[in-house]
Amino acid sequence: MGFREKIARFMSGRYGSDALNTFILIVCIILLTVAMFFTGVPSYVLRGAALLLLAVSIYRTMSRKVEKRRAENAVYLRIFYAVKSFFIRQFNRIRYIKKYRYRKCPGCKNHLRLPYKKGGHEVKCPKCGTTFSVKL
Ligand SMILES: [Zn+2]
Repeated sequence: MGFREKIARFMSGRYGSDALNTFILIVCIILLTVAMFFTGVPSYVLRGAALLLLAVSIYRTMSRKVEKRRAENAVYLRIFYAVKSFFIRQFNRIRYIKKYRYRKCPGCKNHLRLPYKKGGHEVKCPKCGTTFSVKL
């Protein structure tokens, strides 16, 4: 049996890697990099945390509880996209400050991009139809 088959047999039924594992490994590398700028206790704490994350990553990759790992990854992805869209919104807020203003609908919490108009006026949410007044 070749090396590749041995690996394949060893990994069969195990979870493998995912986006969450990639994220954990990136954080691990960041911690190790930051640790280089410290000595003594802070350095040990950072290296220890990196080692712990590495262990978590290996544990998840080797895990046979595939459903549980998938659920963890789904939670991670949900948080990742929420954070990502938050930053994109902040970026657009600044980029289009002359043309648009961003407000949250009080009815459905949908994020709305409103054309900039001076003074207060009524806005109707295109998603849920709630009418509310805004002052831009
Ligand atoms: Zn709405």
